[in-house]
Amino acid sequence: MAAWRRRSHSPASRPFIWMMLAITGYALVAAFEAGAIGLPSKIFWSKLEYVGSGSVILWFLVFAIHFALQKQWLTTKKFVVLAVMPIANALLVATNEWHHLVWTGFSLLPETSNVVVYEHGPGFFWIMVWVYTYVLLGVILLAKAALRPGLLYQRQATMVLMGAIVPLLGGSAYMFDLTPPGLNVTPMSFMVTGVIYYASLLHYRLLDLVPVARDTLIETMHDGVLVVDARLRLVDINPAAQQLLGISTLSIGTSIETILARSQELLAGISLQTGKTLIRLNAEPAQYLEVQTTPLHNHWWQMTGHLLIVRDVTQRQQTEVELRQMNHQLQEQLRQIEGLQIQLREQAMRDRLTGLYNRRYFEESLSRELARAGRAGHPVALILMDLDYFKRINDTFGHLAGDRVLQSFADLLAYSSRSSDIACRYGGEEFVLTLPGMTLEAACQRAEQIRQGFAATQVWVGDNLIQTTLSAGVGTFPADGKTGEQLLQVIDAALYQAKARGRNCIQAVCQN
Ligand code: GH3
Ligand code: MG
Ligand code: MG
Repeated sequence: MAAWRRRSHSPASRPFIWMMLAITGYALVAAFEAGAIGLPSKIFWSKLEYVGSGSVILWFLVFAIHFALQKQWLTTKKFVVLAVMPIANALLVATNEWHHLVWTGFSLLPETSNVVVYEHGPGFFWIMVWVYTYVLLGVILLAKAALRPGLLYQRQATMVLMGAIVPLLGGSAYMFDLTPPGLNVTPMSFMVTGVIYYASLLHYRLLDLVPVARDTLIETMHDGVLVVDARLRLVDINPAAQQLLGISTLSIGTSIETILARSQELLAGISLQTGKTLIRLNAEPAQYLEVQTTPLHNHWWQMTGHLLIVRDVTQRQQTEVELRQMNHQLQEQLRQIEGLQIQLREQAMRDRLTGLYNRRYFEESLSRELARAGRAGHPVALILMDLDYFKRINDTFGHLAGDRVLQSFADLLAYSSRSSDIACRYGGEEFVLTLPGMTLEAACQRAEQIRQGFAATQVWVGDNLIQTTLSAGVGTFPADGKTGEQLLQVIDAALYQAKARGRNCIQAVCQN
């Protein structure tokens, strides 16, 4: 049976099946009553009719509650409470012989002779009050459901409502004697209800409120699941999606654009394009949703809607951001370390006081320059310089003043060097200038320029003017030495000679 197949989908299915069974039973009993011959058997079937109508109204009310609430409502206790009055009323009818409250008398219509007109007593009207109470309660619930937003709901609820009003009208007609005498149309009206419901079931998918299977898995899963139809109306939504997107089941049947209108980010993010989209919600702190959209097709490969799976990826996103930040920090630190390494390397080859290259660097660079010049057949000139009477400056003006003189000489040396020259502090107040590719003559000229330049340099330390001179020895590779050691030895000797000559002069090796 159609409702049976749908029983797991809608909470209203079971009561609906029972209601339909009750209507069928009621109609059958009514038919037996009409067909029965003789007053006693007619009364017997009439009594059973009240059992039928009692069951019908009971199940109708239960069905209406389930349909309107959209959840499993029936418990044994509640059912017993609802069943009390219909059972009591059936008993009242069954015991009519003792009190004559329901039927005060019976008369057979003369012309048809097989139709009994029941004369009604107060018990009948009492029973009718309960019938109306149950049916009206059900109708009110269905009317409320019909007013609920959502096209699908409205159509279904309207059909259900129409089905419920028919017996209400039929019953009233009988009660107010608007029907031919003796003809109770109530069972027939319920048959009409049954037909309307059966049609709804088949054509409007009455109990199939949500066409997509809503199994427990979808209901309880953490990921939000929602389905929109081809016209972008919300068809199904699970609790997780309701919570993530702030949508209630009441929105079923409404266009997704209307539902999401309040959140620009959501509206822009849910583009219904197949694939994954990341949505950033401007909450504080920011929330990230990932929406996976899959088109849905029917058997004929027509698109019937979209399935959207929504995940809260805030945690993942935050972790990614943190990782990126950490990575960025690490790279920054790496850059700093590299910078420090360069600085350290630089410091390792520089003299701290003067900023010139130190002796270690000089020795390394000299062997490199000599090797290179040896291959190319070029000369390399060296000028070894020593400041004259430097000790006196320290003694007279102090060590700091001596430092200042060393610094100003270093500046002069750096200023008068080409980019290929290598100016070094050899130690104490001794300096050496490596001049790749330079001849002895040119080197002597350069040494002379430096000597003159330094002799003219005035160093002011406080109020004191300090002026001093230098002596220098000059030699070239390969003429004056094949190795750096040899070369330095002979140049040092030349310097010694310059000192001996009275200082403030240049002594070339070849002038020996
Ligand atoms: P000469 O003309 O024979 O070279 O005499 P001089 O005094 O320059 O030579 P001497 O070798 O006797 O003295 C060198 C002095 O240089 C001794 C030392 O205290 C000083 N000196 C060495 N390094 C530094 C330095 O970094 N700063 C200062 N202020 N003085 C230094
Ligand atoms: Mg010296
Ligand atoms: Mg000296």
